[in-house]
Amino acid sequence: MTAATEPATATEPLVRAEGLTKRYQVRTPAGRRALTAVDRVDLTVGPGRIVAVVGESGCGKSTTGRLLLALERPTEGTVTVGGRDVNRLGKKELRLLRRDMQPVFQDPYDSLNGRMSVERILSEPARVHGVPLGGPGGARPVAELLDLVGLASSYAERHPHELSGGQRQRVAIARALALDPKFVVCDEAVSALDVSVQAQVVNLLSRLQRELGLAYLYISHDLALVRHLAHETAVMYLGRVVEQGPTKALFADPRHPYTQLLLAAVPRPRVRRDGGTEARRATVRAGELPSPLDRPPGCVFSTRCPLATDRCRTEEPALREVAGRRAACHYAETAEAVA
Ligand code: ADP
Ligand code: MG
Repeated sequence: MTAATEPATATEPLVRAEGLTKRYQVRTPAGRRALTAVDRVDLTVGPGRIVAVVGESGCGKSTTGRLLLALERPTEGTVTVGGRDVNRLGKKELRLLRRDMQPVFQDPYDSLNGRMSVERILSEPARVHGVPLGGPGGARPVAELLDLVGLASSYAERHPHELSGGQRQRVAIARALALDPKFVVCDEAVSALDVSVQAQVVNLLSRLQRELGLAYLYISHDLALVRHLAHETAVMYLGRVVEQGPTKALFADPRHPYTQLLLAAVPRPRVRRDGGTEARRATVRAGELPSPLDRPPGCVFSTRCPLATDRCRTEEPALREVAGRRAACHYAETAEAVA
């Protein structure tokens, strides 16, 4: 860790977003409109913690990840790393900070330069940041990186097209670790992989997190996967966090109807009376997801919520403490499970 991200106090989270909001100006047939991708999101990631962000496609997960990495500027709100506002850093400081914060994206084909050998891909971060390979203060040597992600040293000579999907993602992970970061944003990092390979790569990410004391923002639409990986989970819907807290509490007793419906849609084996198992599957009603250009007034989920009342359609529920987590539903304290 460089001094740039050293927390000022032991209790200071590594990364903190407050009131994080991102609006894009987009062209529509009706003219230029503001699209709200991320809306007043508060999120903290402590050192060595895994925080998952889940929700349907388009709910603002990737935008949140890019904002936390300071790859984009928020419209409103702040991102602090080690207590310092990343959008107020000078160029030099930001460069230093980038060493500590790395992304791993979904598609390693897109993110790895196909013309480069693995050796070159893995030594690139050192060149870009002007640090030596190896030694104190230097980048991790290529052989060490390959070893970290479970690839033999002979892979250094290969090119991305000579690797399987899982191997390519291992290389992308190794590259993210080259400068010894403290914070990694994994954005659907295993979603493009075969199911059988997904578990191996998730296990690798999990081992690396423990061994290197990394913090992850783990973006995923796969709740079954997040359940065993993340310490904390935030559920997003149309740019808003509707429920967030310890993963265990959310999965055991979800308080927001949207979380309940998402969880009900996770196939899980249920033991039948005859001892067999069956998969249960209920889904959030598809085809009714409003556009982020036309977000409903009141609760963002009110147009799809089976419990919605007139109050929900007019008054926005605050995200507040309920049963050991935060939930944004007027009825979070009292509502029966909807699924
Ligand atoms: P997710 O990762 O959850 O699928 P995104 O963060 O990618 O969601 O997108 C959230 C919303 O913001 C979507 O409606 C998307 O179309 C929109 N969006 C994302 N990036 C841009 C951009 N650069 N310009 C305009 N709209 C964008
Ligand atoms: Mg995304």
